[in-house]
Amino acid sequence: MTSMVLARKYRPQSFEAMVGQGHVVQALSNALTQQRLHHAYLFTGTRGVGKTTVSRILAKSLNCVGPEGTGGITAHPCGQCQPCRDIDSGRFVDYVELDAASNRGVEEISQLLDQAVYKPVVGRFKVYMIDEVHMLTNHAFNAMLKTLEEPPEYLKFVLATTDPQKVPVTVLSRCLQFNLRPMAVQTVLEHLQTVLAAEQISFEQPALALLARAARGSMRDALSLTDQAIAFGGGELHEQTVRQMLGAVDRQHVQRIIEAVASGDGAGLVAAVDTLRQLGLSASGTLEELAAALQRMAVVQAVPQAFGADDPDAPLWSELAGLLAPDETQLFYSLALQGRAELALSPDEYSGLLMLLLRLLAFKPGSGAGSNLPPKAEGSAARRAVAEPTALTVASAVPVATPPRQTVREVVAAAASVQRHEQDRSTAARPVPSAEPPPWDDLPVEAYDEESPQLAGLPEPVVDEPVLAEPAPRVAEMPHAPESAPPIPELPANAEADRWTAVVQALCDKGLITALVRELAMQAQCLSFKEGPEGSAWRLRVERDSLRGDGHRDRLTAALGQLLGQPARVDLEAGAVRDTPAIRDQLARQRRQRAAEDLIQRDDLVVSLLNQYPGARVVPGSIRPV
Ligand SMILES: [Zn+2]
Repeated sequence: MTSMVLARKYRPQSFEAMVGQGHVVQALSNALTQQRLHHAYLFTGTRGVGKTTVSRILAKSLNCVGPEGTGGITAHPCGQCQPCRDIDSGRFVDYVELDAASNRGVEEISQLLDQAVYKPVVGRFKVYMIDEVHMLTNHAFNAMLKTLEEPPEYLKFVLATTDPQKVPVTVLSRCLQFNLRPMAVQTVLEHLQTVLAAEQISFEQPALALLARAARGSMRDALSLTDQAIAFGGGELHEQTVRQMLGAVDRQHVQRIIEAVASGDGAGLVAAVDTLRQLGLSASGTLEELAAALQRMAVVQAVPQAFGADDPDAPLWSELAGLLAPDETQLFYSLALQGRAELALSPDEYSGLLMLLLRLLAFKPGSGAGSNLPPKAEGSAARRAVAEPTALTVASAVPVATPPRQTVREVVAAAASVQRHEQDRSTAARPVPSAEPPPWDDLPVEAYDEESPQLAGLPEPVVDEPVLAEPAPRVAEMPHAPESAPPIPELPANAEADRWTAVVQALCDKGLITALVRELAMQAQCLSFKEGPEGSAWRLRVERDSLRGDGHRDRLTAALGQLLGQPARVDLEAGAVRDTPAIRDQLARQRRQRAAEDLIQRDDLVVSLLNQYPGARVVPGSIRPV
């Protein structure tokens, strides 16, 4: 029974020792100190958050007589007197714990209520603790209600439930209710550190972080899991063994699935499900892990620094977060959640899982499957891709069988013309709806009514006068004015990077690289390029480890050979990059955005409208380059 050792040994014996439930502890301590006692308490909260523990401490507080035997009701039970020690060891006759979920529960409740008319045997108070009270029958509730309505002064009820919705209102209304919260991962983590330090057990920090998260807010589960992990790891806590023990579905499987979905790789998804089937890993567990991963990715997308150094998987989440657009992540998350319910209806769980994963692929804009769907079903990510047709990353998923041979010089010239074209187009701009509701949505419907006083109160727009009357100075007062925006950095001249960007553009245009190989090319900085009788040789630097695999490199090498019509060699090295096609692409987008904003900010009509309507503003982020 080693698995219960830590949980039992470190069960808090006092309110001070309770972790993570400060709000409940403070309310109860104050009530005890001020002798404002209620006759029934209801503790709600998920399993393992401390409902029984609070109940025992409360029972001690009510019955403690202090080490000298002269103490009264206290918020700080001594833990030494007979009542305290008997309650701790479960021998105190006036403290009764009942589990209403057990078979004998109902029967015992009626016996217990029969006993309520008798005064406590040894204590100051009788304390009846009824766990999972929502499981009582109506009959039992009614019997209890009678006692709750006219309780003898020596009787205290402590009711606990994981499902307060099922407790009758008549009972709820007679209880002082406290909600015990699931514990934060950080709280659990800190407590585990304290416990392990006291036990003198060495541990790896990432191992502890994994255990703290696996406990899902339950301190009891955290301690039990830690016990198991200590046994599993032969007395020590290593990340690897803890991962193995918690294992169910290794995050690597989930990582592979997300990468396959992001790159529109149907074969990869089929292979991933086959692997799960062969390893006998649960399909439902996979979807659960997938949903958890997507949730973390969404958090990273919104708050890049959300996961600190104590999370061993933090680098993985930020890497995966970059593979999907935020709205795709949201969509896939809800599909993964709904998919779990579908598994039970599937012919077998793995085919159900595969169907769900293929559905993600079908909803992925730009994938082969998605291109057959009507545009509406492809989600806003597809619409965004359409709205930004000049983005360098847009490429066909269908490779061109025999591309015409093109020298590097021609490629550069073609790329330069594309860039000029982009610059021309960026001079046109139009506002599009943004995530922030436009200010006119704040007005009630009647504001649009011409009779409405709100609109009548506004100054009449003067349409006949020339709008040029008051030019640019107004600009400086507007939010996101060009003057206040940080300058967009200029990359230093770099001939190798120029050449590489042009080559990658050509590879993308011809559909020779897709998915993660395209990602590799986009994220690579060219350090050197040589051309000789044996063909071209490229030395590339790539920051992300996951992109530098041999498979991706070989596919990129083959694509270069095909584009340039001669053998190619690619050497990859690790290191920080400053000038890659992806970075250039990003800067070009920022420049187009800035140009569009400038254009709107200086637009005569916009300026005159802003001057006419005090309080009017250009909604930040609502301007998009065409
Ligand atoms: Zn005591």
